[in-house]
Order: sequence, then C-alpha cells, then structure tokens
Amino acid sequence: MNPTIQLEQRYCAHNYAPLPVVLVRGEGVYVWDDQGKRYLDMMSAYSAVSHGHCHPRLVRALSEQAARLAVVSRAFYSDRLAPFLQRLCDITGFDMALPMNSGAEAVETALKAARKWAYTVKGVAPERAEIIACDGNFHGRTIAVVGLSSEPQYREGFGPFPPGMKRVAYGDAAALEAAITPDTAAFLVEPIQGEGGIVIPPVGYLAECARICKKYNVLLICDEIQTGMARTGALFACSHDGVKPDGVVLGKALGGGLLAVSAFLARREVMEVFQPGDHGSTFGGNPLASAVALEAVNVMLEDRYAERAAELGDYFLGRLREINSPLIREARGKGLLIGLEVDTVRVSARALCEALMQRGILSKETHHTVVRFAPPLVITRQQIDNALDQIQDTLQAFTVS
Ligand SMILES: *Cc1c(COP(=O)(O)O)cnc(C)c1O
Repeated sequence: MNPTIQLEQRYCAHNYAPLPVVLVRGEGVYVWDDQGKRYLDMMSAYSAVSHGHCHPRLVRALSEQAARLAVVSRAFYSDRLAPFLQRLCDITGFDMALPMNSGAEAVETALKAARKWAYTVKGVAPERAEIIACDGNFHGRTIAVVGLSSEPQYREGFGPFPPGMKRVAYGDAAALEAAITPDTAAFLVEPIQGEGGIVIPPVGYLAECARICKKYNVLLICDEIQTGMARTGALFACSHDGVKPDGVVLGKALGGGLLAVSAFLARREVMEVFQPGDHGSTFGGNPLASAVALEAVNVMLEDRYAERAAELGDYFLGRLREINSPLIREARGKGLLIGLEVDTVRVSARALCEALMQRGILSKETHHTVVRFAPPLVITRQQIDNALDQIQDTLQAFTVS
C-alpha cells in the first residue's frame, strides 16, 4: 500500500473512506498525485473549490493579507471584515451578516438566531421553539445539526439530540404547512439537496414554502452552502424560484477553495437578536479569511461564474443524458451540480468512481447510488468533452465486463 495512505490510516481518525489517491498539487481544474499523474477534479472538495485550485488572484489576496495581518479575533475591529460583509450583503440583498468558519457552524448560528428570534420577536414561550428541516437533508455534523438529519449513520451513537427539531418530506410544501405550529421558529431547507444525492424539488416548491412561512410568521432559512456562489447557474439557487428567504447560510466556495469561510446572512430584525457576548467564534471573520472571501466574491462576479455554470451545466447534463447505458438510472442536476444515479444492482457508485479515477477523473459517490459531477466553475467546454469521453468509456467497460 502507498506509504502515505498507510501513515494517514495509522494517525488520522477513520471518519472518511477516501479513494486511494494521494494528491500533492493543484492548478485550476486539475490535481496531481504523488506519482505525477494528472486528474480532472470533478469533486471540487464538495463544491468548495468552485474557483479551481490555487486561483492566482486568490493566492495573491491570501499571501498579501497573510503578510500584513491574519488573525486578531473580534475583540478588535479589522479593516477587512466590513468591506467583505458589505459586499456580501450587497449581492444577496440581506441587511447584516455573521461570519463563521465551517458550514456547520454557520448553520448552528442560523438555528440560534431563529430560536432567539422566536422568543424575542415572535413571542414563542421559553424553551418551546421548534425548527423544521427536511428528510434527506445535509446541514453538517454538529450534534444539533445531525439531530435534524434523517440519515441513520449520521445519528447513530451520537444522541441524545436537542429537542425542538422535526422533519417533513422534501419537496412537499403541504407537509411543511401541516407541520407548522405556533411554536415554529424556522424552516431550514436546501434549495437542492447536494449530499442527499443532487435531489431537485418540484419547480415552485421553494416559492410555495416562502408563501407558507410568511403566512405563519416562520423564518425561511436556505442552506446555500453547497448551492450558492454560482454553483447551480445563479448566484444563489433560491433565486431560480424567485425566492428571497429571511436568512441564508453560505460556506464552501465562499472561501475561494483556500480557507474555511462561512456566514449567516439575514434581515436586520433577525440578526439584531444577537447582543455582544451571545455568540462568537475565535477565527470567524478574521482579516485573512475576509480578504480571501471578498476576492472570491469579486472573481465569481467578474468572471461570470453563474453564467458559465448555467451554460456549461446545461451542456454537460444534455450530453450525459445522451449516453445510452443500462447502468444509468438518471442524470440530473442544475448548473454544474450534477448527479448520475446508477443502477446499483449492476454497479456500485463507488466502483464507478474508482474506475473513473483510473482514467483520470476524480469524483465521489454520495449515498452509494449517485456519482457527483461538480467540477470547478472555471472548467471549459473542451475539458467537459474530454471528461464525457472518459465517463462514456468507463460505463462501456463495466457493461461489457
Ligand atoms: C457541506 C455542507 C454543510 C456543512 O459544511 P461544513 O463546512 O462541512 O461544516 C452544510 N450544509 C450543506 C448544504 C453542505 O453541503
């Protein structure tokens, strides 16, 4: 076995089952392994690397800021945080933002905001606030957040979970309406379920949820950690349905593929529940993260990532659907968030990923049934064509063998 893999297995917790490849370098859509072999990255670190690996403008922003001032904590002001959050609010239309690091932390922040809003603004009795999420959701791995999950493996062995959490069927607005009570603080939803298997709800679902939430004075909070930042062909996926939620959670690509940067954004009325000392993060909003994330937002807008994702995603999905293979159950997606659901009686999604890896395409299965194709948004049509040839050949090889 590769000694690096052996060493990692010895010293790192086994909470992942990585594909057997050791990556040492990246540039744009490509990464290289320790043998010098090049791969097209169709995984993009679960969409965190939308800008491609080591984007020169982002590396420059990172190194310049790292040499000037990196971390001060929010015990003080820095000259980098406000311009970043101002830009973020400008492009999303929200009033205020709370910066964190990982996605799960920003989701926790949203849940805390929703609960406190329920008590202080909506008038829910103490300790009664409820959060509603969806079956099949993925919002991260903290205890409260896996308490919302319907995935047995994410929960087993980690209970007890905080009360006041419930779930409804995804894509079913009537189920949401039926679950709402006077104690409901918020409905937390992904516009498209990424980890759930690239599950796209019916057109108009989110708009209907928004109407229901407004009717019952429930906050609509969209988790756009994976779908935001242009991934699905719009800056934020909720705008496909013309929806302006009460709050949104961002992460992943917000850090430009270089750092962990996340944020919860909301209307003033919601964000104002936070008083000094209520909530915090040592690293959240640090000058280094702020400088990189601001540049990541600027690059995304200037290089028209949303238009690229829309156009190239349509092309990619269209060509995937033309592949005639008995192994494919469905190809679906929006923008460059694409899933290929395989017939697991014939082939496991994992085996397909391993075979694709042999041919220089990196991806990862989700839920044993879906192979995800979410390349950096800087990918070209030519590179997509090359990938499609490899995908087609790989499927072909499984069919004949
Ligand atoms: C990845 C992801 C998260 C969790 O983000 P982390 O940075 O891994 O904590 C939450 N929600 C969605 C929709 C995600 O895709």
